Amino acid sequence: MRLEILQGDITTRDVDAIVNAANSSLMGGGGVDGAIHRAAGRELLDACRELRRTSLPDGLPVGQAAATPGFKLPARWVIHTVGPNRHAGQNDPELLASCFRESLKVAGSLGARSVAFPAISAGIYGWDAREVAAIALDAVSRFDVESSSGLELVEFVLFSAETTDVFRSVFGA
Ligand code: ADP
Repeated sequence: MRLEILQGDITTRDVDAIVNAANSSLMGGGGVDGAIHRAAGRELLDACRELRRTSLPDGLPVGQAAATPGFKLPARWVIHTVGPNRHAGQNDPELLASCFRESLKVAGSLGARSVAFPAISAGIYGWDAREVAAIALDAVSRFDVESSSGLELVEFVLFSAETTDVFRSVFGA
């Protein structure tokens, strides 16, 4: 499995699946969540409503992941995951590691070969980007060793130059 770090807008990535740093309601929000909903179109919100109506009546728990189609996005799927919110006292690294791991599991079960992640919890949810990068690297590396998912490429797509530099330094890339 190849790991790549790029600066840019995750909604433009032509990979099999992009990961959304969603909130438990799945009804959209700010940051990368808002950008993904805007780029995917109204059908994405409808698909999220359908998830809420069927398998997730109480919302998506922190650290879990669930997929919808990507609709107007180049990516075929969106994998929604809910990062821990430091401002709400959610500061357990295991919860953030779980977001990466569960998203990769969902990607594997969809048959995705390429997946792009944003810096989950590093925005509105208040985690330090360096900590997010370290947890992401560890979770993805462990997943690669422990699973035979068929995933060939995992990208980290960071919005700012600063966060990109932090990820590059933590990943040694
Ligand atoms: P969270 O609520 O999980 O912290 P945010 O969306 O607020 O999620 O932020 C997560 C990260 O995503 C931040 O580093 C933010 O700068 C970044 N981000 C925002 N928009 C995009 C985008 N279009 N593509 C990639 N990353 C983005």
